[in-house]
Amino acid sequence: MSTLDALEIHLVPVLTDNYAYILRDTDTETVGVVDPGEAEPVEAALTQLGWRPEWIILTHHHGDHIAGAERLAGGYNAKIAGAAADSKRLPPLDAAVTAETGWDFGGQTVEVIETPGHTIGHIAYHFPRARALFAGDTLFSLGCGRLFEGTAAQMWDSLSKLAELPPETRVYCGHEYTQNLAAFALTIDPNNPALRQRAEEVVQLRADDKPTIPTTIGKELATNPFLRAGEPSLKHALGMAEADAAAVFAEIRRRKDAA
Ligand SMILES: [Zn+2]
Repeated sequence: MSTLDALEIHLVPVLTDNYAYILRDTDTETVGVVDPGEAEPVEAALTQLGWRPEWIILTHHHGDHIAGAERLAGGYNAKIAGAAADSKRLPPLDAAVTAETGWDFGGQTVEVIETPGHTIGHIAYHFPRARALFAGDTLFSLGCGRLFEGTAAQMWDSLSKLAELPPETRVYCGHEYTQNLAAFALTIDPNNPALRQRAEEVVQLRADDKPTIPTTIGKELATNPFLRAGEPSLKHALGMAEADAAAVFAEIRRRKDAA
């Protein structure tokens, strides 16, 4: 069995443009649900798979990520995992995790990565054996989450942690925003051939009503302007050749918010 087979992952579209994910550890058959912003579509998918979740896994407290959590936990007698730092504004947690505690899902080591920025308590879950990252609203394909609570410097630091993961790591994020983000990314980094190619691919995927997720860390490093804020060519294009990466990131974030 390849390491990628350690975790079976099903994408479930919920609400307008959110993704929940159903996971199954292939050794122990432990099932989990990441960020159920709505219960019904997840229940339907679980019924079709014939699976019962043991864990509901939350990246942050926003309603479009947690609204289905308590109903699923109650209906399947599942436990809830989330950030210890946000335990007061998440549903009652059975596993309150931090970067120090880490976590274990069905025998798989899970690295908890604290990623403040979008919210202060936001965390991402990295499954090293399966080469998978559940990034919530920190890292999107071709973008990143808005800064509702943290500073640009915090978000840059958070994204920099994710950028250090192995490039083949598959990234499962909280939203299907890629097509809109591709159009913005091209205004920042118009001469990047990898970005132009990805933008064309994304238009085609969406025209075919297919998800653009997962992406990979390697793909994002080559195309996502928010991760590329330290690249000399990008700094130069923005007239910020002498600025540090965090300042360039803040400027890209500011432009996206104004777009
Ligand atoms: Zn959010």
